[in-house]
Amino acid sequence: MKKCVFFDRDGIINEKPVLARYIRCWEEFKLMPEFIESLRIVKQKGYVAVIVTNQKGIWHGVMSQESVDEIHNNMRACLRNEHELELLDVFVCPHGDDQCDCRKPLPGMIVRAAGQHDIDLSASWMIGDSHRDIDAGNRAGCRTILVDDSDGGGETEPLHQVARISELPSLLEKVL
Ligand SMILES: [Mg+2]
Repeated sequence: MKKCVFFDRDGIINEKPVLARYIRCWEEFKLMPEFIESLRIVKQKGYVAVIVTNQKGIWHGVMSQESVDEIHNNMRACLRNEHELELLDVFVCPHGDDQCDCRKPLPGMIVRAAGQHDIDLSASWMIGDSHRDIDAGNRAGCRTILVDDSDGGGETEPLHQVARISELPSLLEKVL
């Protein structure tokens, strides 16, 4: 079985949208160098990497499923061509609240990824900047890392916490 690091997207992989609530197109998507560094460590340590992202803006009609798919295709091509890094898969929840089993803090996307890709969840990690990510990861039976110093209010606690994304690579070197 594979071991996997699941990444939340906005705030972990790319800069959080500043003015708008959602990233609507590739031009608004800013990959963070700290994520690339983190992904490289994840690979070196023998893990695959999967993105699990809530994108309620699709449900709101702010952006289309096609534009979100295009962002992810471009992101994967950029990682592959410029950094020689691969993502195993990307899971998107396009739903509003209370409509599905996949919107984090529910663990549906992680559980589905595990079934499709033969992933051992007890040997895997979830990294996010919201307590929704931490609750989803814990509910799926993963170890969890919260990248934030302010967000409160989750039902479960992260195993590790760093204040900012710049501290993530050195933590991963230590704990993976
Ligand atoms: Mg986030």
